Amino acid sequence: MNGTFRSILIGSVALAGALMPPAVQADERKQLAFETIDRNAGEMAAISDSIFFFGEPGMQEFESTKLLKGTLEAAGFRVELGGAGMPTNLWAEWGSGRPKIAIVTEIDALPSGSQTPLAFDHAPLVPGAPGHMEGHNTHGGVASVAAFAVKQAMQRFNIPGTVAISFGPAEEQIASRPFIVRAGYFKDVDAVILLHIRETLATGYGVQNYAAISSIFTFHGKTAHGAVNPWDGKDAVDAVELMDIGFDKLREHLRPTYRAHRTITVGGIQPNIIPDTGQIWWFVRDASMPAAKTTYDKLLKIAEGAALMTGTTYDVKYAASAWPQLASKTIAEAIQKNIDTVGMPKWSEEEQKFARDFQKSAGRPEVGLRTTPAALGERQQSTSSNDSGDVTWVVPAGLMTFPASVPGIEYHEWHAAVTPVSSISHKGQVAGAKVLAASIIDLLTSPELVQKARAEFEVESKKTPYFSLLPPDAKPPVDLNKAEMEKFRPDMRKFYLNNTPRFN
Ligand SMILES: [Zn+2]
Repeated sequence: MNGTFRSILIGSVALAGALMPPAVQADERKQLAFETIDRNAGEMAAISDSIFFFGEPGMQEFESTKLLKGTLEAAGFRVELGGAGMPTNLWAEWGSGRPKIAIVTEIDALPSGSQTPLAFDHAPLVPGAPGHMEGHNTHGGVASVAAFAVKQAMQRFNIPGTVAISFGPAEEQIASRPFIVRAGYFKDVDAVILLHIRETLATGYGVQNYAAISSIFTFHGKTAHGAVNPWDGKDAVDAVELMDIGFDKLREHLRPTYRAHRTITVGGIQPNIIPDTGQIWWFVRDASMPAAKTTYDKLLKIAEGAALMTGTTYDVKYAASAWPQLASKTIAEAIQKNIDTVGMPKWSEEEQKFARDFQKSAGRPEVGLRTTPAALGERQQSTSSNDSGDVTWVVPAGLMTFPASVPGIEYHEWHAAVTPVSSISHKGQVAGAKVLAASIIDLLTSPELVQKARAEFEVESKKTPYFSLLPPDAKPPVDLNKAEMEKFRPDMRKFYLNNTPRFN
């Protein structure tokens, strides 16, 4: 990328605050937070844009967390990097004691997501490299500036308590939150807000998505010549096939809500060698974790049967798990009020045209950018999973999304990496940070709100008591994406922005 292009992208940021509708808000504390966010809109974009070009997938968020640590420490936050056994797990906080309110979000990119910003054709910055095709880069700026704005309000108005941020590694592999929960980070937290990019300002309540369990089954047999003495062999890939067939026989007897998918990760060597190793990686999902666990326990029995039939042995390695997100109605109502106060960004005609042209080129409906926030309501449960779900069963949780994506452009494809550093994204981040900061101020300053959220949580969470899927000896998969990053990082470095954001 050349310098001119970069300055256009960054240059559009300064206007973002000025273009927001004037916030009608009697609350001086929120007003101060909003002013702080407007004043730091450029710094927020600098963080989010930097993280975009770092493009680091799960467990490899080294440059991203280094930037966030430096920025937050310079702003007065205490920052811990490397907790719960993960080098890129970042926890930051300011203040002391209760109430303690935490933002829960993530900053990881996706494999093969590299893309040139604002280009309508598939043009990777570095071919094959990872990149931000879900816009998690924006979470870094929004969470940091919102927390800083809350800190400024807490200092000015003597608001007691603590504001915290949890940047969990490897959300895309649902790999870290069970470990962060197990390490006890949320034991003294009164409420959390889960933050995610989307195409509008929105919140919601109820059970939001699916439980998932991911495990890798490795079968061990004995090699032999496929023609000369096959009777001496024990075929580990036969066991893999039988496990697959066995589960297909089970499908008829599962609840209609289940999902199960697999990939064969080790499938033999060559036909005339009876393979001594076979491996199959499974995801099992359902609308609740107990339901997913019931199916998973049956899968374990099928593995046992497959081993018995083939005379092989096997081991099971826990890979990841996620509870569905349980979102609080009480906190959603508080967030919605702030959404209504802040309102959607005022998009320019140029931005609307860009969005429509982009939608057209991607073959999506040419609806432009959303101009109204979503109404509050119970959202339909989706079948995807996010490991932040585990957090929501141990502490009352609100969730919110902010408008930094183009409608119709789905995540996990390169199109979604076209706009995360655009002025559309920057304006959406400003709106998101304001709603987030105002909602945290509500939780810090209203004991009734926190108590009501707690009472609701006690009822809702007890309907499905939380249990951890982590085996006692499970360790975080810290080498995830390591080889990929070692391969691509030298070429990706050329695009680093070398920013040093400092809040004021
Ligand atoms: Zn995400």
